[in-house]
Amino acid sequence: MPFSEVDVVVVGAGAAGLAAARELGRRGISAVVVEARGRMGGRAHTVLSDGGHPADLGCGWLHSADRNPWCAIAEGLGLEIDRNPPDWGQGSVGRRIGREAMTDWAEAMERFWDLIDRVGDAGPDRSVADLLPAGDRWLPRFEAVIGYISGAEPGALSAVDLVRYADTGVNWRVASGYGTLVARAGAGVHVSLDTPVTSVDLTGPRIVLTTPKGELCGRAVILTVPPPLLDGEAIRFTPPLPEKIEAARALPMGYVAKLFLEVVEGSGCLWDLEPDTQVPGALDGARTGLYHLEPLGRPLIEAYYGGALALDLERAGAEAMEDFAVGELSGLFGSSVRRHLKPVAASGWAADPWSLGAYSYAVPGGADRRADLVLPVDGRLFFAGEACSRDSYSTTHGAYLTGIDAAAAAAAVIRPDGSRP
Ligand SMILES: Cc1cc2nc3c(=O)[nH]c(=O)nc-3n(C[C@H](O)[C@H](O)[C@H](O)COP(=O)(O)OP(=O)(O)OC[C@H]3O[C@@H](n4cnc5c(N)ncnc54)[C@H](O)[C@@H]3O)c2cc1C
Repeated sequence: MPFSEVDVVVVGAGAAGLAAARELGRRGISAVVVEARGRMGGRAHTVLSDGGHPADLGCGWLHSADRNPWCAIAEGLGLEIDRNPPDWGQGSVGRRIGREAMTDWAEAMERFWDLIDRVGDAGPDRSVADLLPAGDRWLPRFEAVIGYISGAEPGALSAVDLVRYADTGVNWRVASGYGTLVARAGAGVHVSLDTPVTSVDLTGPRIVLTTPKGELCGRAVILTVPPPLLDGEAIRFTPPLPEKIEAARALPMGYVAKLFLEVVEGSGCLWDLEPDTQVPGALDGARTGLYHLEPLGRPLIEAYYGGALALDLERAGAEAMEDFAVGELSGLFGSSVRRHLKPVAASGWAADPWSLGAYSYAVPGGADRRADLVLPVDGRLFFAGEACSRDSYSTTHGAYLTGIDAAAAAAAVIRPDGSRP
């Protein structure tokens, strides 16, 4: 089908865009997805190690898995789901510091979350740092945890936004990778890769989008790009959309970096821990990684860094990230561990021009900007993507659900009477 004849143009082939396009297809409405990158999936991206093991450079966990729509899609595609729960490193911390200190840490966590929860989901809003007891011995450890969750430091984060985040606490994995799942979900969707949209013109009867491959137009458009791409020069809007830029500015991207190392064959037993154990590099500082040893029993280590450390390591380059990881792992398991590890891949989401970060957070006072971000413009330009979700932002299922909502809204423009072809 020529581009010019589609009803809806979806910008971005990540979780939100693919969900929207699938839903439009289900409703019998023609749609094309235009994607800047040369692949589908966006921040869902699985690569393979030399040994053929899947490694998710972006999302890895099916959060709120008991109500996560991606689980049914995975099952429909015949992809295996692993239901073993993570403990986010709690077990290994307990082993390291002993029962008494572990109880102390667990109680501190509960106290910190309780202080944050007390702000309530209506505010008045404060920064998370404002609510935490200065000088508490467990604060650096909690800051590290916040860095993994939000990709930012407590001082930068809206407490109300954090309180609104809803999670059932059930976390599963797709054996072949979350990125594989999202990309596979795009099979059957009409996607034009390597097609960055540079402008959106709302002045005519059809919305006109400019790409290096030419112009295309739609009766409705669904935009799923991450917030910083609305707040920069990447896409020019006519007329300008200052209210969207303002919303996007209140929803910056947090920084998260991942590094995968492969355990070389024949390395023997490098640690006295069960496969699938997560281990924090250090317990006394915020600038430390979380190391997932032998995830799903595979000979890999997945290193996870959040906040300023993630950005610094990414900027320093993959080798520096590797040095940092091997340094922390040597501290945990002895310096000989170095000989048994080889790098697989490091993420680079902050410098990636199509994401400019890992996932969105709200600045203090900015939690309601998510609702502003999702508001349609001119009754035919719709917005979706994780940053638009009130309670499941920063997740792939949150992105999916916003895509479904945007598709329903766009469908109502194409067929106001709800009819089917
Ligand atoms: C390191 C890391 C770990 C994560 N871990 C988890 C996890 O365990 N569980 C979880 O649920 N979530 C996790 N996430 C978050 C999750 O990956 C995202 O929330 C989700 O993938 C976002 O989907 P989206 O469709 O909103 O955005 P994206 O995936 O960013 O999709 C937007 C698409 O728009 C494209 N685009 C941008 N600009 C243009 C343009 N001008 N023209 C055309 N196309 C454009 C982009 O290339 C991209 O493909 C993680 C993310 C990262 C980075």
